[in-house]
Amino acid sequence: MTHAPPAQGEPIWLTEDRPDEHELGLCVHCGFCLNACPTYLDLGVETDSPRGRIALMRALDTGRVEWTPRVQQHFDQCLQCRACETACPSKVPYGRLMEATRAEAFAQQRWPRRRRLLWNLIMRGVFPSPRRLRLAGYGLKLYQRLGLQALVRRSGLLRRFAPGLADVEALSPDATDRFYANAEAERVQPAQPLRANAALLTGCMMPLAYPETHRATVRVFARNGVAVRAPREQVCCGALHAHGGDVEAARDLARKNIAAFLPDGEAPPDAILINAAGCGSHLKEYGHLLRNDSDWAARAADFASRVRDVHEYLVEIGFEPPTGELPRAVTYQDSCHLSHAQEVRKAPRELLRAIPGLELREMRAPDRCCGSAGIYSIMQSEISQRVLAEKMEDVLASGAQQVCTANPGCMLQLDAGIARYDAEGALSARSAHAIELLDESYRIGDGARRIR
Ligand code: SF4
Ligand code: SF4
Repeated sequence: MTHAPPAQGEPIWLTEDRPDEHELGLCVHCGFCLNACPTYLDLGVETDSPRGRIALMRALDTGRVEWTPRVQQHFDQCLQCRACETACPSKVPYGRLMEATRAEAFAQQRWPRRRRLLWNLIMRGVFPSPRRLRLAGYGLKLYQRLGLQALVRRSGLLRRFAPGLADVEALSPDATDRFYANAEAERVQPAQPLRANAALLTGCMMPLAYPETHRATVRVFARNGVAVRAPREQVCCGALHAHGGDVEAARDLARKNIAAFLPDGEAPPDAILINAAGCGSHLKEYGHLLRNDSDWAARAADFASRVRDVHEYLVEIGFEPPTGELPRAVTYQDSCHLSHAQEVRKAPRELLRAIPGLELREMRAPDRCCGSAGIYSIMQSEISQRVLAEKMEDVLASGAQQVCTANPGCMLQLDAGIARYDAEGALSARSAHAIELLDESYRIGDGARRIR
């Protein structure tokens, strides 16, 4: 449902999703968050810092400022990386406040018309439908296989006349030969004795862009005695919708997933697994998202309590030590929504350190955002590119041969960064998910030929 912006003198927040007054009041203006904030470090202005954005929300709340396009721009420029939450001694739930602010902006139609049209077309039209997403994947495959992508890139015309569009084009994933099909999961037999039954959320982008990450995930869990299935009726998790402020679309998707993963009359899975950090942090918020929906609130809370990031769950159940040698130096990029939102930092490193021959080389700032941030890299491509350039400096300075992370958006962004900034070819051209490296080590240990 959308609402017209309030007239002067009317209350500024119009929906139940408004920022919580008590949570807004938790900010004591100490400024500890400033140096953790990539947009403050890049733009250098208070209104593009966490403290400044919270002050803007409060000023709107009390009517001291009007909700102008300029104010909206400061909200749009936030990466929602939540590094400010980690830095904040007062535990201000910044991510929730920003999502609530964006929900109000969306409901009040604070966006330009063209942006709303595009959102409706892509985010409401394509993302909720696995079939339409797959068609888009085939379109990308055609664009690449017919040589059009190579032509566009070689000509340099796009970069010359529309550099923003060229940055977006550079993010397109290499279309894979075989997209992931949810039916594949059940074909992998778990080792006995069976330790748990899990359900995997495969998401919207991963089956098209990184199907091998899903295949590796299922193999790794099967090896550790966990049977994994991927419910056929599942849909996109809705994280991108919630981050953009389209909470109604996010709620629709959440209800569909809850029905798919916790069907009436069937035993629930011991864990709902997720290997994409951005989706994982959102799935853990399903209870909050549907808290006011009396028909769904209890099931949503149950769903959220079962969600486990794959690294977190492997460490929790105790994983079989891998034996295959991977003699390479790897650096690990903390995905913001794994480290800052879910506070999962040690588990991926524990998995990587368990791989024989692998040397983990830490970056100077591994938990600084790479600039991907969902569709931020498309909507705010200039800032995103500057944040990426800094990240790539850090990656290259680590001396690693491969960069590894835990989220498809970060993998796409880092792959674009490697193509653009790794002139010496020091890094492997493709970033990896930690679970793929673990799978590779298991397979080498079993005598399988090297898979990368
Ligand atoms: S979420 Fe990230 S970009 Fe936004 S204010 Fe916090 S630290 Fe800055
Ligand atoms: S660290 Fe927390 S309390 Fe301090 S200014 Fe930032 S958001 Fe406010």
